[in-house]
Amino acid sequence: MPEVRRDVKPVEVNYLCDKCESGMVICTDQSSAAAKRPHKCVICGEHYEFDKIYPKIVYVPSE
Ligand SMILES: [Zn+2]
Repeated sequence: MPEVRRDVKPVEVNYLCDKCESGMVICTDQSSAAAKRPHKCVICGEHYEFDKIYPKIVYVPSE
């Protein structure tokens, strides 16, 4: 099976706070082994738990 390559670009995915609707959440404990990671809004401090870590980077095909 030959290697195939294509150009991709990284895209940052953020979660916008549901409460203040202007802050992004950041993960406050990335080392936690728990499935749910604690996050908080950088503006109002609202706490969230996600099974992902925000901000996260995904790769999409470049144009
Ligand atoms: Zn907020």
